Amino acid sequence: MEFLYGAFEMLIVYIILSNLVKIGYALVNKKKIEEKLKERQKREQEVEEKEEPIVIETVMDPVCNTEIEKDNAYVIVEDTDRKYFCSWDCRQKYINEKNEN
Ligand SMILES: [Zn+2]
Repeated sequence: MEFLYGAFEMLIVYIILSNLVKIGYALVNKKKIEEKLKERQKREQEVEEKEEPIVIETVMDPVCNTEIEKDNAYVIVEDTDRKYFCSWDCRQKYINEKNEN
């Protein structure tokens, strides 16, 4: 009888210990998952910060008054000022008008 009682006790201890191990494992797992989630969020945030919207800078052609992309414009440098034109013709017109004045 004493042996049986001992076996029963051991079973209880075993159940408690195995549950503790399970709980401990679950807690560690939870932490790992939380860390992974945090890492992922951080990475996603970094990607968002890196993805800047493409900004096309536009300028006004003073001859025909059309808005044009700065990168594709014809440019004249006057002292410190720059003038941008949609075409070589507009650029020429501007120069001619300036020379007439
Ligand atoms: Zn023009």
